[in-house]
Amino acid sequence: MSIKRVGVIGGGQLAWMMADAAQKLGVKLVVQTPSEHDPAVSIAQEIIFAPIDDASATEILAQKCDVITFENEFVNLDALSLLAQQGVCFRPGLEALVPLLDKYHQRRYLSDLGLPVPQFFALDEAENIKSKIESLGFPAVLKSRRHGYDGQGTFIINDFAALEQKLSYETTKKTLNQPLFLLEEFVPFEKELAVIAARSVEGEIVTYPVVETQQEQQVCRRVIAPAQITPNQVAKIQAIAHTLLNSLQFVGVFGIELFLCADGKILVNEIAPRTHNSGHFSLDACETSQFEQHLRAVCGLPLGNPALQCAGAVMVNLLGYENSHSDYQSQRQKIAEIPQAHLHWYGKTESRPGRKLGHVTVLLDNQNKESGSAIANGVGAAIAHIIESIWYPR
Ligand code: ADP
Repeated sequence: MSIKRVGVIGGGQLAWMMADAAQKLGVKLVVQTPSEHDPAVSIAQEIIFAPIDDASATEILAQKCDVITFENEFVNLDALSLLAQQGVCFRPGLEALVPLLDKYHQRRYLSDLGLPVPQFFALDEAENIKSKIESLGFPAVLKSRRHGYDGQGTFIINDFAALEQKLSYETTKKTLNQPLFLLEEFVPFEKELAVIAARSVEGEIVTYPVVETQQEQQVCRRVIAPAQITPNQVAKIQAIAHTLLNSLQFVGVFGIELFLCADGKILVNEIAPRTHNSGHFSLDACETSQFEQHLRAVCGLPLGNPALQCAGAVMVNLLGYENSHSDYQSQRQKIAEIPQAHLHWYGKTESRPGRKLGHVTVLLDNQNKESGSAIANGVGAAIAHIIESIWYPR
């Protein structure tokens, strides 16, 4: 069956960035999203205005589409599985999402597969936290098991009093019986890495170049492609991606976040069953972007070439730093004038501190390829600094 209409649950920037690829592949996007201000409203063929966990809206979406995919995985899986039983085609399949939506289940899944992860425990109200944390020591990292993203729900904890305070504070914010947390060792990583991988309906897998991601206050600020790591480390990360995608029988694009430790050890931090911020550079730097790759996989097409078409790239997120309705025209203009810069502005009508408003990717010159990469020479870091000094107020 040739797939012509793809339903997308979620209408944020990840859905918005599928637009060019959809047009190229001759596919129409029908989007389920709650607000008329959401970025993908401007590019969708048709929109169903509803929260993403509203399965009756997804039933209507299914009637309009050949296949349904996700730009946001915080859906109601139980309700959607009734639709799947009635023949609605989800890609990735719902079974692939089941072990991933709860961070504790996800960690269990990874460690059961024998993949390296930080030490972790589930915490619930009744348990003796003290004995558990003694084995980890401080600092430790407390995470909400569900609905965490962009560092929301991730807390670095320096002592027992802070842990108790955070737990009781977070618990009162939630409805009763949902105060579920994960506690894990703090990893004194040397670098954070990420890789985007894709798997087709036929089981073909491709991986993008491994990148370095740089977080501040747990939010991604910049991505450097490719990461300066050894070929052996790249091979290990690609093997992790293959194990995961095959084990989940995943169809679509998938983001994997990792820690590189000082002794060269690699740990998997988190996986995201969708396109991912760490792969945005691929829009401008790779032959096939992660968004096209995702649509290719979901539509049952062969996968495209994920290789970099230039020596490297640096991607900088343009994060909100105030509450405002400004469109930041003059800063955007200045950033767009940087040679080899590609600016993507998500068209959000409201800025808030930490909110992702856009990103810019600067391609690094091919001439650096022979003489050691431009990234190793610090060019990427210097460009990121220029962009951030234009974007953020002094
Ligand atoms: P989110 O799902 O909100 O992105 P993550 O688990 O990816 O949450 O955590 C966000 C960031 O917090 C990471 O990129 C990293 O910088 C930091 N972090 C998370 N877990 C740990 C850990 N165990 N040790 C050290 N830093 C961590």
